[in-house]
This record gives sequence, structure tokens and C-alpha cells, in this order.
Amino acid sequence: MANDQLLGAIRTVPDFPKPGIQFKDITPILKDVELLRQAVKSLAAPFEQANIDKVVGMESRGFILGAMLADHLGAGFVPVRKKGKLPYQTIAETYALEYGTDELEMHIDALTPGERVLIHDDVIATGGTAAATANLVKRSQGHILGYSFLIELAFLNGKAKLSETVHAVLTY
Ligand code: AMP
Repeated sequence: MANDQLLGAIRTVPDFPKPGIQFKDITPILKDVELLRQAVKSLAAPFEQANIDKVVGMESRGFILGAMLADHLGAGFVPVRKKGKLPYQTIAETYALEYGTDELEMHIDALTPGERVLIHDDVIATGGTAAATANLVKRSQGHILGYSFLIELAFLNGKAKLSETVHAVLTY
């Protein structure tokens, strides 16, 4: 099982959720146990020896592989969610979208100061979501070891917004 099989399984859906977006659909990977295991292995590879304490994953597709990645690395999992979804006290970060702004939240007690954090999402596009998540982690005094994405849309140069190591399993 190799990463080109992962690439072959990703379904690009044109004009979803709006005209002009080429949506990268990972559900064909999720439904195949061998592809799923390969995805987790490849996401984890550079961080196997990094002593990660927490994987922080972003709503909502970042929860799926993020929780599996956490298990694989022997780490806990922390969800970052859109405003108003988390039940307890939160810290929030506002970030720019193409039109307007959005807000992400994390529980105030999700991280213990000094914990070693890996940030995960399925796709990095403009990098705004990952950068806002990094700010939440830093405000909680988490130590970011890096980012692990399944897919990087390199032409959008989202990496430029992030200062730590960025690992992407697949690049478009
Ligand atoms: P970003 O522009 O990097 O902040 O991405 C915003 C969010 O939308 C992230 O959670 C990405 O996973 C998701 N996303 C952005 N572009 C795509 C795409 N072409 N296909 C699938 N998900 C996307």
C-alpha cells in the first residue's frame, strides 16, 4: 500500500460547495480499511518519535483522521470547533475568509501548558484555519511540533502562514 493509492482514491468534486471550488473528498479513503490505515501511517510518519501529547484537529473532517492519528501516536485528541459548538468555557480566534470572517474555539482546559502538539486537518487550502488554530494552541501555551495534513493545495501557499514544520501526505 503506497501513497499513490491514496491519491487515486481521492475524489475531486467540481463546484462544491460553491462554484469554482474543486472539493477534495476523502470519504473513499475512509470507507476502505487498508487506505484508512495507510492514511494514518503516512500522516504520523514524521512525528513517530516526536513525543506528541495532543493532536489538535479542526471541525469537522479534521476530527476523523485526527482522532485516529492521536491514537496511533499515543496522544490525546483536542477538537477545535466553529463558534458556539463547544459546551464549556472557550478561547476564540477570528480569522479572515474570502468574504468576511469566521471564528474558531477551543476549550480553555484542552491543553496543559508545555504540552507537545501536532495540528491536523484533512486539507490545507489558504492556511487561515490552521493559522487560527495555531494561535489558539499558542495562547494555551502549547508547544507546536508541526502540522500534518492529508492534502495540501500548494498553489494557495497556505504554508506561508505557518511557522512550524508542515507535513502533507499528498500535494496538488
Ligand atoms: P483554509 O483555506 O486552509 O483555511 O481551509 C479552510 C477549511 O476548508 C479547511 O478545514 C479545509 O479542510 C477545507 N477546505 C478548503 N478547501 C478545500 C477543498 N478544495 N476541498 C476540501 N476541503 C477544503
